[in-house]
Amino acid sequence: MRFAGKIAVVTGAASGIGKAAVLKLAGEGAHVFAADIDEAGGRALAEQSNGKIDFVRCDVTVPADIEALMNTAAEKAGGIDIVFNNAAAGGDRAPIDEITPEGWDRTMDLVLKSVAMGIRYAAPHMKHRQGASIVNTASVAALGAGYSPTAYAVAKAGVLHLSKVAATDLAQYGIRVNAICPGFINTNIFTASLDVPGELKTQANAVIAQMSANAQPVARGGQPEDIANAVAYLASEESSFMTGTHMLVDGGLTIGQRHAW
Ligand code: NAD
Repeated sequence: MRFAGKIAVVTGAASGIGKAAVLKLAGEGAHVFAADIDEAGGRALAEQSNGKIDFVRCDVTVPADIEALMNTAAEKAGGIDIVFNNAAAGGDRAPIDEITPEGWDRTMDLVLKSVAMGIRYAAPHMKHRQGASIVNTASVAALGAGYSPTAYAVAKAGVLHLSKVAATDLAQYGIRVNAICPGFINTNIFTASLDVPGELKTQANAVIAQMSANAQPVARGGQPEDIANAVAYLASEESSFMTGTHMLVDGGLTIGQRHAW
Protein backbone atom coordinates (compact mmCIF):
# COMPACT_ATOMS: atom_id res chain seq x y z
CA MET A 1 0.00 0.00 0.00
CA ARG A 2 2.65 2.52 -1.10
CA PHE A 3 0.03 5.11 -2.02
CA ALA A 4 -2.28 5.06 0.99
CA GLY A 5 -3.59 8.60 1.50
CA LYS A 6 -2.16 9.83 -1.84
CA ILE A 7 -4.16 11.62 -4.52
CA ALA A 8 -3.28 10.76 -8.13
CA VAL A 9 -4.35 12.02 -11.56
CA VAL A 10 -3.92 9.79 -14.64
CA THR A 11 -4.71 10.83 -18.23
CA GLY A 12 -5.50 8.36 -21.01
CA ALA A 13 -6.98 6.28 -18.21
CA ALA A 14 -9.67 4.32 -20.05
CA SER A 15 -7.38 1.94 -21.93
CA GLY A 16 -3.97 0.31 -22.14
CA ILE A 17 -1.10 1.74 -20.10
CA GLY A 18 -3.20 4.43 -18.39
CA LYS A 19 -5.83 1.93 -17.25
CA ALA A 20 -3.18 -0.43 -15.89
CA ALA A 21 -1.58 2.48 -14.01
CA VAL A 22 -4.91 3.55 -12.52
CA LEU A 23 -5.55 0.01 -11.25
CA LYS A 24 -2.01 -0.26 -9.87
CA LEU A 25 -2.12 3.09 -8.02
CA ALA A 26 -5.65 2.53 -6.69
CA GLY A 27 -4.76 -1.07 -5.78
CA GLU A 28 -1.97 0.29 -3.58
CA GLY A 29 -4.21 2.78 -1.83
CA ALA A 30 -4.34 5.97 -3.94
CA HIS A 31 -7.49 7.94 -4.66
CA VAL A 32 -7.23 8.23 -8.44
CA PHE A 33 -8.81 10.79 -10.75
CA ALA A 34 -8.94 8.94 -14.07
CA ALA A 35 -9.24 11.21 -17.12
CA ASP A 36 -10.02 10.36 -20.73
CA ILE A 37 -12.11 11.40 -23.73
CA ASP A 38 -13.60 7.89 -23.72
CA GLU A 39 -16.51 8.42 -21.34
CA ALA A 40 -17.89 4.88 -21.50
CA GLY A 41 -14.48 3.31 -20.79
CA GLY A 42 -13.66 5.80 -18.05
CA ARG A 43 -17.01 5.37 -16.28
CA ALA A 44 -16.75 1.58 -16.45
CA LEU A 45 -13.36 1.78 -14.75
CA ALA A 46 -14.69 4.03 -11.98
CA GLU A 47 -17.76 1.87 -11.38
CA GLN A 48 -15.73 -1.21 -10.48
CA SER A 49 -13.57 0.65 -7.95
CA ASN A 50 -15.50 1.04 -4.66
CA GLY A 51 -14.99 4.80 -4.73
CA LYS A 52 -11.18 4.69 -5.14
CA ILE A 53 -11.42 5.92 -8.77
CA ASP A 54 -13.27 9.04 -9.99
CA PHE A 55 -13.71 9.47 -13.75
CA VAL A 56 -13.27 12.98 -15.18
CA ARG A 57 -13.91 13.63 -18.87
CA CYS A 58 -10.91 15.50 -20.28
CA ASP A 59 -9.61 16.11 -23.79
CA VAL A 60 -5.88 16.73 -23.29
CA THR A 61 -5.71 18.83 -26.47
CA VAL A 62 -7.94 21.39 -24.70
CA PRO A 63 -5.93 23.25 -22.01
CA ALA A 64 -9.13 24.39 -20.25
CA ASP A 65 -10.10 20.71 -19.82
CA ILE A 66 -6.74 19.95 -18.21
CA GLU A 67 -7.00 22.96 -15.91
CA ALA A 68 -10.50 21.86 -14.88
CA LEU A 69 -9.28 18.28 -14.29
CA MET A 70 -6.49 19.37 -11.94
CA ASN A 71 -8.75 21.85 -10.13
CA THR A 72 -11.44 19.18 -9.69
CA ALA A 73 -8.99 16.68 -8.19
CA ALA A 74 -7.45 19.27 -5.88
CA GLU A 75 -10.79 20.65 -4.71
CA LYS A 76 -12.45 17.27 -4.16
CA ALA A 77 -9.49 15.53 -2.53
CA GLY A 78 -7.48 18.40 -1.02
CA GLY A 79 -4.43 18.49 -3.31
CA ILE A 80 -2.50 16.36 -5.80
CA ASP A 81 0.48 14.08 -5.00
CA ILE A 82 0.96 12.08 -8.21
CA VAL A 83 0.31 12.93 -11.88
CA PHE A 84 0.74 10.50 -14.77
CA ASN A 85 0.55 12.52 -18.01
CA ASN A 86 -0.04 9.61 -20.34
CA ALA A 87 -2.80 10.27 -22.88
CA ALA A 88 -1.77 10.34 -26.54
CA ALA A 89 -2.28 8.62 -29.86
CA GLY A 90 -0.12 8.08 -32.91
CA GLY A 91 -0.83 11.44 -34.57
CA ASP A 92 -0.05 12.26 -38.20
CA ARG A 93 1.72 9.39 -39.96
CA ALA A 94 3.28 11.37 -42.85
CA PRO A 95 7.08 11.48 -43.37
CA ILE A 96 8.84 14.84 -43.11
CA ASP A 97 8.69 15.53 -46.88
CA GLU A 98 4.90 15.11 -46.93
CA ILE A 99 3.57 16.31 -43.58
CA THR A 100 1.23 19.30 -43.53
CA PRO A 101 1.57 22.17 -41.06
CA GLU A 102 -1.85 21.19 -39.67
CA GLY A 103 -0.82 17.55 -39.18
CA TRP A 104 2.34 18.66 -37.42
CA ASP A 105 0.48 21.04 -35.09
CA ARG A 106 -2.23 18.45 -34.30
CA THR A 107 0.40 15.89 -33.31
CA MET A 108 2.37 18.36 -31.19
CA ASP A 109 -0.83 19.43 -29.40
CA LEU A 110 -1.85 15.84 -28.63
CA VAL A 111 1.53 14.36 -27.71
CA LEU A 112 3.66 17.24 -26.35
CA LYS A 113 1.60 20.31 -25.45
CA SER A 114 -0.83 18.05 -23.55
CA VAL A 115 1.99 16.98 -21.22
CA ALA A 116 3.29 20.55 -20.82
CA MET A 117 -0.19 21.73 -19.86
CA GLY A 118 -0.64 18.74 -17.55
CA ILE A 119 2.45 19.81 -15.63
CA ARG A 120 1.48 23.48 -15.83
CA TYR A 121 -1.95 23.01 -14.26
CA ALA A 122 -1.02 20.27 -11.77
CA ALA A 123 2.09 21.88 -10.29
CA PRO A 124 0.33 24.65 -8.30
CA HIS A 125 -1.61 21.93 -6.44
CA MET A 126 1.52 19.81 -5.75
CA LYS A 127 3.88 22.34 -4.20
CA HIS A 128 5.47 21.31 -0.89
CA ARG A 129 3.48 18.06 -0.61
CA GLN A 130 5.62 15.24 0.73
CA GLY A 131 6.77 13.04 -2.16
CA ALA A 132 5.09 14.91 -5.03
CA SER A 133 5.87 13.13 -8.29
CA ILE A 134 5.00 13.69 -11.96
CA VAL A 135 5.53 10.91 -14.52
CA ASN A 136 5.19 11.56 -18.24
CA THR A 137 4.81 8.92 -20.95
CA ALA A 138 7.50 9.33 -23.61
CA SER A 139 8.50 6.35 -25.79
CA VAL A 140 11.39 4.47 -27.35
CA ALA A 141 10.46 6.79 -30.23
CA ALA A 142 12.09 9.59 -28.21
CA LEU A 143 15.44 7.78 -28.19
CA GLY A 144 15.92 6.71 -31.78
CA ALA A 145 14.51 7.17 -35.25
CA GLY A 146 12.52 4.47 -37.00
CA TYR A 147 10.31 3.29 -34.13
CA SER A 148 7.30 5.41 -35.12
CA PRO A 149 6.03 8.22 -37.40
CA THR A 150 8.06 11.43 -37.65
CA ALA A 151 5.92 14.01 -35.85
CA TYR A 152 5.10 11.58 -33.00
CA ALA A 153 8.79 10.73 -32.52
CA VAL A 154 9.76 14.41 -32.36
CA ALA A 155 6.93 15.16 -29.93
CA LYS A 156 7.97 12.25 -27.67
CA ALA A 157 11.58 13.51 -27.71
CA GLY A 158 10.06 16.80 -26.56
CA VAL A 159 8.32 15.01 -23.68
CA LEU A 160 11.67 13.62 -22.60
CA HIS A 161 13.36 17.03 -22.57
CA LEU A 162 10.31 18.70 -21.04
CA SER A 163 10.59 16.24 -18.16
CA LYS A 164 14.17 17.41 -17.52
CA VAL A 165 13.49 21.15 -17.64
CA ALA A 166 10.30 20.81 -15.61
CA ALA A 167 12.28 18.85 -13.01
CA THR A 168 14.65 21.81 -12.62
CA ASP A 169 11.79 24.35 -12.54
CA LEU A 170 9.86 22.44 -9.89
CA ALA A 171 12.66 21.11 -7.67
CA GLN A 172 12.34 24.15 -5.40
CA TYR A 173 8.81 23.02 -4.55
CA GLY A 174 9.82 19.42 -3.83
CA ILE A 175 8.18 18.10 -7.02
CA ARG A 176 10.04 15.40 -8.96
CA VAL A 177 9.46 14.94 -12.71
CA ASN A 178 10.47 11.85 -14.67
CA ALA A 179 9.56 10.19 -17.96
CA ILE A 180 8.93 6.62 -18.92
CA CYS A 181 9.87 5.15 -22.30
CA PRO A 182 7.78 2.11 -23.19
CA GLY A 183 8.79 -0.19 -26.01
CA PHE A 184 6.09 -2.02 -27.97
CA ILE A 185 3.22 -2.65 -25.54
CA ASN A 186 0.13 -4.66 -26.39
CA THR A 187 -2.57 -1.95 -26.30
CA ASN A 188 -5.06 -0.43 -28.73
CA ILE A 189 -2.77 2.39 -29.83
CA PHE A 190 -1.72 0.82 -33.12
CA THR A 191 -5.26 0.08 -34.19
CA ALA A 192 -7.31 2.82 -32.47
CA SER A 193 -7.60 4.93 -35.64
CA LEU A 194 -8.49 2.00 -37.96
CA ASP A 195 -12.07 1.88 -39.19
CA VAL A 196 -12.46 -1.91 -38.85
CA PRO A 197 -14.48 -4.20 -36.51
CA GLY A 198 -13.23 -4.71 -32.94
CA GLU A 199 -12.24 -8.36 -33.41
CA LEU A 200 -9.97 -7.45 -36.33
CA LYS A 201 -8.32 -4.81 -34.13
CA THR A 202 -7.73 -7.40 -31.39
CA GLN A 203 -6.16 -9.76 -33.95
CA ALA A 204 -3.98 -6.96 -35.33
CA ASN A 205 -2.86 -6.00 -31.80
CA ALA A 206 -1.83 -9.62 -31.17
CA VAL A 207 0.15 -9.76 -34.45
CA ILE A 208 1.99 -6.54 -33.54
CA ALA A 209 2.76 -7.90 -30.05
CA GLN A 210 4.18 -11.08 -31.60
CA MET A 211 6.27 -9.11 -34.11
CA SER A 212 7.79 -7.08 -31.30
CA ALA A 213 8.45 -10.24 -29.29
CA ASN A 214 10.44 -11.54 -32.25
CA ALA A 215 12.44 -8.30 -32.52
CA GLN A 216 13.65 -7.91 -28.95
CA PRO A 217 15.74 -9.89 -26.44
CA VAL A 218 12.82 -10.46 -24.01
CA ALA A 219 10.79 -12.75 -26.22
CA ARG A 220 7.26 -11.83 -25.20
CA GLY A 221 4.91 -8.98 -25.98
CA GLY A 222 5.13 -6.07 -23.54
CA GLN A 223 2.00 -5.69 -21.39
CA PRO A 224 0.45 -2.50 -19.92
CA GLU A 225 1.22 -3.86 -16.44
CA ASP A 226 4.97 -3.84 -17.28
CA ILE A 227 4.71 -0.06 -17.64
CA ALA A 228 2.32 0.43 -14.71
CA ASN A 229 4.86 -1.24 -12.39
CA ALA A 230 7.52 1.25 -13.49
CA VAL A 231 5.11 4.17 -13.14
CA ALA A 232 4.33 3.08 -9.58
CA TYR A 233 8.06 3.01 -8.78
CA LEU A 234 8.61 6.52 -10.18
CA ALA A 235 5.51 7.76 -8.35
CA SER A 236 6.65 6.30 -5.03
CA GLU A 237 9.19 7.37 -2.41
CA GLU A 238 11.38 4.42 -3.48
CA SER A 239 12.56 6.62 -6.39
CA SER A 240 13.01 9.77 -4.28
CA PHE A 241 16.60 10.26 -5.54
CA MET A 242 15.46 10.28 -9.20
CA THR A 243 14.33 13.39 -11.05
CA GLY A 244 14.71 14.71 -14.60
CA THR A 245 15.47 11.29 -16.00
CA HIS A 246 13.68 8.44 -17.73
CA MET A 247 13.05 4.73 -17.31
CA LEU A 248 13.29 2.59 -20.43
CA VAL A 249 10.94 -0.41 -20.28
CA ASP A 250 11.25 -2.05 -23.70
CA GLY A 251 12.18 -5.72 -23.34
CA GLY A 252 15.60 -4.76 -24.71
CA LEU A 253 14.20 -3.51 -28.04
CA THR A 254 16.60 -0.58 -28.27
CA ILE A 255 19.73 -2.67 -27.72
CA GLY A 256 18.73 -4.95 -30.60
CA GLN A 257 18.42 -8.68 -30.97
CA ARG A 258 21.33 -11.06 -30.26
CA HIS A 259 22.27 -13.12 -33.30
CA ALA A 260 24.28 -16.32 -33.60
CA TRP A 261 27.16 -15.17 -35.80
P1 NAD B 1 -4.35 3.20 -25.81
O1 NAD B 1 -4.90 3.60 -27.13
O2 NAD B 1 -4.66 1.84 -25.28
O3 NAD B 1 -4.75 4.27 -24.69
C1 NAD B 1 -4.71 5.65 -24.94
C2 NAD B 1 -5.82 6.32 -24.16
O4 NAD B 1 -5.70 7.75 -24.35
C3 NAD B 1 -7.23 5.92 -24.66
O5 NAD B 1 -8.05 5.59 -23.56
C4 NAD B 1 -7.71 7.17 -25.37
O6 NAD B 1 -9.13 7.34 -25.32
C5 NAD B 1 -6.98 8.27 -24.62
N1 NAD B 1 -6.87 9.50 -25.39
C6 NAD B 1 -6.52 9.63 -26.69
N2 NAD B 1 -6.57 10.91 -27.05
C7 NAD B 1 -6.97 11.61 -25.95
C8 NAD B 1 -7.25 12.99 -25.69
N3 NAD B 1 -7.13 13.91 -26.65
N4 NAD B 1 -7.61 13.34 -24.45
C9 NAD B 1 -7.75 12.40 -23.47
N5 NAD B 1 -7.55 11.11 -23.66
C10 NAD B 1 -7.16 10.71 -24.89
O7 NAD B 1 -2.77 3.38 -25.96
P2 NAD B 1 -1.54 3.17 -24.95
O8 NAD B 1 -0.55 2.34 -25.67
O9 NAD B 1 -2.00 2.76 -23.61
O10 NAD B 1 -0.96 4.66 -24.91
C11 NAD B 1 -0.67 5.35 -23.71
C12 NAD B 1 0.60 6.16 -23.88
O11 NAD B 1 1.69 5.29 -24.10
C13 NAD B 1 0.59 7.15 -25.05
O12 NAD B 1 1.23 8.35 -24.64
C14 NAD B 1 1.44 6.46 -26.08
O13 NAD B 1 2.01 7.37 -26.98
C15 NAD B 1 2.46 5.79 -25.19
N6 NAD B 1 3.23 4.69 -25.76
C16 NAD B 1 2.63 3.53 -26.11
C17 NAD B 1 3.40 2.50 -26.62
C18 NAD B 1 2.79 1.18 -27.04
O14 NAD B 1 3.50 0.36 -27.65
N7 NAD B 1 1.54 0.90 -26.74
C19 NAD B 1 4.78 2.67 -26.77
C20 NAD B 1 5.37 3.87 -26.39
C21 NAD B 1 4.58 4.88 -25.87
